[in-house]
Amino acid sequence: MTKHVFQTEVNELLHLIIHSLYSHREIFLRELVSNASDALDKLKYLTLTEAEFKKINFDPKIDISFNDTKDGRSITISDTGIGMNEADLIEHIGTIARSGTKSFLSELTGDAKKDSNLIGQFGVGFYSCFMVADQIEVISRKAGEKEAYRWVSDGKSGFEIEPTVKKETGTDITLFLNDEGKEYANRWSITETLKKYSNHIAFPINLSYEESRFDGEGDAKKEIKERKTEQVNDATAFWKKPKSSLKKKDYNEFYKTFSNDYQDPALHVHTQAEGALDYTTLFFVPEKAPNDLFYADYKSGVKLYVKRVFITDDEKELLPTYLRFVKGIIDSEDLPLNVSREILQQNRTLENIRKASVKKLLKSFQALSKNEKNYIKFYEQFGRPLKEGYFQDRENRELLEKLVRFKSTKTDGYTSLEDYVKRMPEDQKGIYYITGDNEATLRRSPLIEMYMQKDIEVLIADDEIDEIIIPGAAKYGDHDFKSVNRSDAGDELKKDDDKEDEPDEKATAPFIKKVKTVLGERVKDVKVSSRLTDSPSVLVTDTNDPTFQMQEMMRAMGQTEMPDAKPILEINLDHPILKKMKDMRKSKDFDNATELLYEQALLLEGMKLENPADFVKRLNDILAKSL
Ligand code: ADP
Repeated sequence: MTKHVFQTEVNELLHLIIHSLYSHREIFLRELVSNASDALDKLKYLTLTEAEFKKINFDPKIDISFNDTKDGRSITISDTGIGMNEADLIEHIGTIARSGTKSFLSELTGDAKKDSNLIGQFGVGFYSCFMVADQIEVISRKAGEKEAYRWVSDGKSGFEIEPTVKKETGTDITLFLNDEGKEYANRWSITETLKKYSNHIAFPINLSYEESRFDGEGDAKKEIKERKTEQVNDATAFWKKPKSSLKKKDYNEFYKTFSNDYQDPALHVHTQAEGALDYTTLFFVPEKAPNDLFYADYKSGVKLYVKRVFITDDEKELLPTYLRFVKGIIDSEDLPLNVSREILQQNRTLENIRKASVKKLLKSFQALSKNEKNYIKFYEQFGRPLKEGYFQDRENRELLEKLVRFKSTKTDGYTSLEDYVKRMPEDQKGIYYITGDNEATLRRSPLIEMYMQKDIEVLIADDEIDEIIIPGAAKYGDHDFKSVNRSDAGDELKKDDDKEDEPDEKATAPFIKKVKTVLGERVKDVKVSSRLTDSPSVLVTDTNDPTFQMQEMMRAMGQTEMPDAKPILEINLDHPILKKMKDMRKSKDFDNATELLYEQALLLEGMKLENPADFVKRLNDILAKSL
């Protein structure tokens, strides 16, 4: 017998499961049945594709039995699936491989609502059994191997593994139930739970139980116990049932059997295509974004089947990455069973299914957007990946540009580009937007003063990805996107009468030169602003330079060699401060005022000051003089 300790994360997780999660304990059965079904899927695939497995006598099924005696209560779930050898047992049950688990754990340890629903999202379903059991035994024999192994654990310190004997390939898992779990050791609660969560599992689930019968009369009356077996589920591939026979409730139930999600999905899209291409797809969008949405090793939510045979759940190319939040099934009648990964990735049939699926999904999102309130709920979860799509998926650009939303100076919530354009006066030249990382700062930025004054709507692009996707899109319809953060922004807005007011360049040149000398290398240029009304100064980016946020992002991504992209300081000569500066004699005060103009503009951009102490000293000097 070899002893093993649990990985630290497993320990933490188990601790949480046992001590914090109380709702929906019965999901342990759903998790075990879903694992059994996956194991059967995997072996079924091998028996159809690999010569050495073709000869084995495969009888796919899941058997469940229970014991309720004075000595103890237990439930056993057996499957005739792929099984696990010693290495598999150590690797699969005892470790958590996926990233995202750490943040998931801290989420659970925090004040977040404790909900056992979260357990499944990280593929840690097996551990949920420790909610109802104080000891678990797994006996497993891997397909194609002779040796069997017994894994036991009390869910506290670790687990033990020893060789054992098992006649058939597959896995038997026995839960020795604790006080919280004892209610599950009976026919009715097992049947009810299976019907609720596992009715659509495509393999038969048989429950074996004992029934008492009385024989004879009077004193001779004897209780005879008979063992019976009953198939609990209907064991057909749910997605192949006629659409007309399925109700929303059925879809929701099915979703829960395979998605590891306890909540109802936000929407489903079921397609049964016949003709040139013969396939079925059933997609779901969860109510909440999966926790691994922004991890590179996110788990694909789409399973590929060929003629109802499970092929893979680990193929990320089935849908474009920006639709990685979609869960579901693709079942093709036209693919060979033994498609290799390489073939999958260049397969025409699959490519066509993928294209049709993307369109179908995007159209269903569009249908959802008819109801603004529901759509925003959806968008708050999945807006970010949809924006990625808007950037990447040129083919579906027209659909995606209808789906993205932005905050705006004319709305409290979100606006679509379509609505922006509807509101825009006929002679407006483009769609204006301001980028930065804080909505409140952006809404009060000096950069949009002129637009507010002229009643021109500006999109508040406060999501860092906006820096990339908006310039990437360049246009919506015939309208160019115009960044307000640029030095030439708004030039086209200056009316002729504004231009007449423009300061005489010759007259201002010496003043500008003086400001430039003080700021030296820190700015690319100093210009007279035509866009500021209330603020004295602002920093902008030169037309073709990356914006400040963009530079920060590039730095965060490890790009050290940055193009020399210094900001341009724009100053408002009509502002009282600058008017006074023009008459200033003492150069020390002039220098201080110039520094402060630059520093306040930096602060408004949300940037850090190089030397906050100097800034405070300058400010205090000036305050002392003016008070
Ligand atoms: P998930 O099923 O989400 O991957 P689990 O913690 O429930 O997470 O299971 C971990 C792994 O253990 C599975 O991915 C699978 O490789 C293995 N496993 C669990 N149950 C079985 C089983 N009945 N037969 C074969 N392998 C299993």
